Amino acid sequence: MSIFNSNAAIQEVQNEKLQEILSICEKGHPYYKELWSKEGIDVSLIKTTDDLIRLPLTHKQALMENPDSFRIQLKDLPLQERILWEVIYTTGTTSEPTPFFNTTHDYHNYLFQSKRVAEISGIFSTDIIANLFPLTTAPMGAYLRSVTNAYAAGATIFAALPGAKNAKHDLQRSMQECIRLIEQNRPTILWGIPSFLRRLLIKAIELEADFQSVRMCAITGEASSMAMRDEIRRCLKVLHAKDQIVFDRYGSTELGAFAQCKEESDWHNPTPEAQFHEVVDIESGKRLNHGERGALAVTHLDRRGTVLIRFLIGDFVSIANDACPNCGRQGDRIVGPVTRAKDLVKVKGMLINPSVLLNGIQSIIGIDEFQVEVCKAVASDPFSMDELKVRIATQVLDKAHLIRHLTETVQISVKVTPRIEIVAIEDIFNIEKHAKIQRFIDSRK
Ligand SMILES: [Zn+2]
Repeated sequence: MSIFNSNAAIQEVQNEKLQEILSICEKGHPYYKELWSKEGIDVSLIKTTDDLIRLPLTHKQALMENPDSFRIQLKDLPLQERILWEVIYTTGTTSEPTPFFNTTHDYHNYLFQSKRVAEISGIFSTDIIANLFPLTTAPMGAYLRSVTNAYAAGATIFAALPGAKNAKHDLQRSMQECIRLIEQNRPTILWGIPSFLRRLLIKAIELEADFQSVRMCAITGEASSMAMRDEIRRCLKVLHAKDQIVFDRYGSTELGAFAQCKEESDWHNPTPEAQFHEVVDIESGKRLNHGERGALAVTHLDRRGTVLIRFLIGDFVSIANDACPNCGRQGDRIVGPVTRAKDLVKVKGMLINPSVLLNGIQSIIGIDEFQVEVCKAVASDPFSMDELKVRIATQVLDKAHLIRHLTETVQISVKVTPRIEIVAIEDIFNIEKHAKIQRFIDSRK
């Protein structure tokens, strides 16, 4: 019987795995061992995921400060639970990349999760996947894990290697070379960052490239709006692609991937036996009920490298726990919109949420690319007024109308009037130089 048939079966497995991981952490997790003993917490009393609320939440800062202290160090575990298989790095905009350690056991678990993701989202052994993630300075989860996803489904995969040029090895391919590789290898799935995929599809239309083999775009690595996903579908249609499915993945290095069973629906936790999720109130830290929006926290139930208990991912969502209206699976589903808490910034004294702003701008038809910058009105004068600049690239003829529409959208989204500049697309997005568009820049500091 599938675990997805009953919530009671899921809870039973989760409680059993929780007791096991807590006992491992108590013996061999440097960070939690010290924290729990300092706070006088007896983890043997925690028997169920309901009891978990007695443990403190873990903030990202703690992991970033000492990633090694989050790694299980127990000599008497079986070999496959001790051997280091790979290290993935999460990159912040300001800090050094943070390592996330995977043992053989964790790698096998990720293969298992990927197999479930493939089942839920309809990826088959007959698929050919084009990995379109950039080759980066530190090993990036999406790049490494696209391969794991292909292996788990028994599918074929190749990497196009776009990204910032590195003269030493000269491995990165231009957008045009990536398009030629796609024509040659005839993939059924294009796997990449949405803004890059969209630029690639637009270029392919320009070049009249043969993309008829493609049936799906799997997107991950940055948030996308419904308008952005519709735009990807439109491009696929113009290219006479076999189908125009946009599979939007929600996930992170610490979470792994969540899968949609239907386009534009919630995200299933593919392996509830390995991960427990809850939503908490960010101010009080109290656990919220299903359906209430708050900060997402994950507890790893079955990892042996980096292990996180009640770890705040940094995203605001809600959780649904009823049977999925599309596929009937039980277990938790993440319900969007996904917004980021840490991104709140003050502009002209107003607290604004960049995710809401970027989503609003992304929904405007006629903007090819855009970038938002918060800066000082007089760059040399730190006491001058804040300014919200929106740079856009567009080919629309009626520019005055577009500017009016954009101004209104920004005002409605964040209550600040922007200064709008029309620039060349290369000034915003140059794939030869950057792997990803920096959509929001705060250059006041
Ligand atoms: Zn479903």
